[in-house]
Amino acid sequence: MRISILGVTGSIGGSTLDVVEQLGGRERFDVEAVTGHGNIARLAAQAVSSGAKIAVTSNPDCYAELKSALAGTGIEAAAGREALCDAAERPVDWVMAAIVGIAGLEPTLRAARSGATIALANKECLVSAGSLFQAAIAQAGGTLLPVDSEHNAIFQVLERDQDHAVERIILTASGGPFRTWTRERMAGASVAEAAGHPRWSMGQKISIDSASLFNKGLEMIEAEHLFGAPGRALEVVVHPQSVIHSMVGYSDGSVLAQLGSPDMRTAIGYALSFPRRPNLDVERLDFAKLSRLDFEAPDETRFPALRLAGQAIAAGGLSGAILNGAKEAALEAFIAGRCGFLDMASVVERVMEEMGAPPATSLDAVFAADIEARGRAAIHLARLAA
Ligand code: NAD
Ligand code: MG
Repeated sequence: MRISILGVTGSIGGSTLDVVEQLGGRERFDVEAVTGHGNIARLAAQAVSSGAKIAVTSNPDCYAELKSALAGTGIEAAAGREALCDAAERPVDWVMAAIVGIAGLEPTLRAARSGATIALANKECLVSAGSLFQAAIAQAGGTLLPVDSEHNAIFQVLERDQDHAVERIILTASGGPFRTWTRERMAGASVAEAAGHPRWSMGQKISIDSASLFNKGLEMIEAEHLFGAPGRALEVVVHPQSVIHSMVGYSDGSVLAQLGSPDMRTAIGYALSFPRRPNLDVERLDFAKLSRLDFEAPDETRFPALRLAGQAIAAGGLSGAILNGAKEAALEAFIAGRCGFLDMASVVERVMEEMGAPPATSLDAVFAADIEARGRAAIHLARLAA
């Protein structure tokens, strides 16, 4: 099986290489392209260990460093956005799409157009350009396998011949590190506090998005694109143990859930072996040790991200791209110490109000909305800092 891994140097990318190794390594998998951005030493080491044909950094300034790190290995080196997109569309059977943020949209779309099976970890493809992205997959006759743990869980328990009987899609949320914090305390939260996820070990941005529940908001939009249907409810329930990764409710009152340790390798392995379940060395659940599973309703006052995502789903069009663009700008400002934790949601809300929900007619329209949302967010953020 020929595969490529976009975003190999990240948290999901590294777990993907581990799963590839567990499932047979070079005996079963031919790695075509691996890509990264800044961490060139890691990218080169991963390219060598996986036997990739080409390693690409999206950062053009890093070409010389990558080239010299790969000298004598026979692995091709390339750099820049175009090289990244070209590598993404090299013909393979399976592509892991694990670039973080809107930067992942174009390369993943190019991979989708090649007809490869797309294992989708990157959320922004669906959040910002859901209809365009799914149309590209359908047109190329490819398959989309969700890797985000909640969507992978739903995909696992969604009975494909019982479509008519699906009543509810229930996303679980850990509630993040601020689940029990007051609004006042959240207002003064530091980057380190926000990045400390209680259950999952992930990249910095998604960890902070988990603290604000913007991650869950993006996942609601993602879920609507993947599993939404008229009359079908989309719900979020806080479940601090993160053992149930999500659920599907049926018209006979049954609820099917997928459970497991908080380890992305289960979702990655499922996507890599689909439709057969692989043998994976991940921690098994010990129910006696777990002893209990808790649930609570999410609090939209302390976590407005959920309400904003609901609004974006109802409005449709480019509102997902607008929410995400404004959120990324606000998140970068928070990480840089230019705004408070709760300011992120208020900035996103203002930008969404200002821009409304124009139709998502093309990829250019998505990028334009993303840039405008970031620009408007920057204005609000500058006012906050003044
Ligand atoms: P990460 O920050 O650890 O890694 C991101 C990868 O993207 C790295 O390889 C990095 O080099 C690359 N990258 C960064 N900026 C880039 C740019 N401008 N152009 C091209 N490549 C760039 O992130 P992660 O935690 O591995 O998450 C990857 C994606 O998967 C995200 O969209 C995230 O929301 C999603 N996801 C992650 C998890 C998780 O457990 N980590 C779970 C579910 C979904
Ligand atoms: Mg998730």
